[in-house]
Amino acid sequence: MTPSINAAFDGGNIHFVAVDGQRIDLEIVRDHGSDFYQWFYFRAAGLREGRWTFRIVNAGGSAYPMGWPGYRTRASTDRGAWRQIETRYDDGVLAFDWDGADGDVVWFAYFAPYTTERHASLIARFANAPGFTHRELGRSLDGQPIDLLTVGSGSRPAWIYARQHPGESMCEWLMEGALERLADATDPTTRALLDAFTFHLVPNMNPDGTRRGHLRTNAAGVNLNREWHAPSAERSPEVLGVLSAMDGTGVAYAMDVHGDEAIPANFIAGFEGIPNWTDAQGELFYEFGRRLAAHTPDFQTERGYGKAAAGRANLSMSTNQIAERFGAVAMTLEMPFKDHDLNPDPEFGWSPERSKALAHATLETLATMIDLIPSGGRR
Ligand code: ZN
Repeated sequence: MTPSINAAFDGGNIHFVAVDGQRIDLEIVRDHGSDFYQWFYFRAAGLREGRWTFRIVNAGGSAYPMGWPGYRTRASTDRGAWRQIETRYDDGVLAFDWDGADGDVVWFAYFAPYTTERHASLIARFANAPGFTHRELGRSLDGQPIDLLTVGSGSRPAWIYARQHPGESMCEWLMEGALERLADATDPTTRALLDAFTFHLVPNMNPDGTRRGHLRTNAAGVNLNREWHAPSAERSPEVLGVLSAMDGTGVAYAMDVHGDEAIPANFIAGFEGIPNWTDAQGELFYEFGRRLAAHTPDFQTERGYGKAAAGRANLSMSTNQIAERFGAVAMTLEMPFKDHDLNPDPEFGWSPERSKALAHATLETLATMIDLIPSGGRR
């Protein structure tokens, strides 16, 4: 029997090329309207006879080929537990094996998926929860709602938003962890946070890319994190809706949640180089990073991105735009597709559970800085 490869489902992405004996050749499909690709998620069925080698033959042309060395594919037979499997990268081809004795039907993904369906369940769980309000901030180009959940009564507006890049599925796992923590009214840290801040959470800024199985762009092939200087209804209604709402609330603290293909560590990036930079505003960002690193072994400040020179910040990116526009303590959180090498987990690598735990750690760290963060933050 010939194996069957299928990605015609919520968030799926793969193109079947050929099967030759026990070797199955595949390609990742480009984001619609762009050249980006790296996210894959597919089902393989009919594997019970022998050992199979899967080869993603166009991996070398992906958006971040430096993401493949040291990366391990996630595999699941129950779509709940996503374990790392041995993965090779040679000559632009990503390859991994599957023994039919371990499952006749298996799902493979770049990272544990967080699907549109799971997003809908997340909204259902929190939109009507005590203390929470829900609002739609507009619609995506495919007509999907941009969901905002708000909780808390404090004077400082805090925005946590995720998944501008839809293939970075760990981001919405982190948002699930943040929402769970902020819904726990019995927790003293949560109560202190909700007294000090009003939290505005956008769990998924790019529902179209999520459903389409994109890596980096929306339905029009637009990278949303290059639109914040001038979002438009035609190209980036997702950003237009969120930024308009931010203009209404102001922003004191902001975290934009991402995944990084290459660096095997959690880190934050700031807003160096914005025209309105002050050392006092920047120091609060650095202090947050130091405190988070002291608080959890799943964070560090040694590895990360380079800093923009004075006056050279890219204001099309949300963290820079929000720091500039509102004077906010703004940051981009990057989580790995690989693992957090300082505290590795050989079985699962960086994972949904650890993403959720990191959300808790960021909130606990924020709670230690309540008195330091100005409540201002209006445009
Ligand atoms: Zn990203």
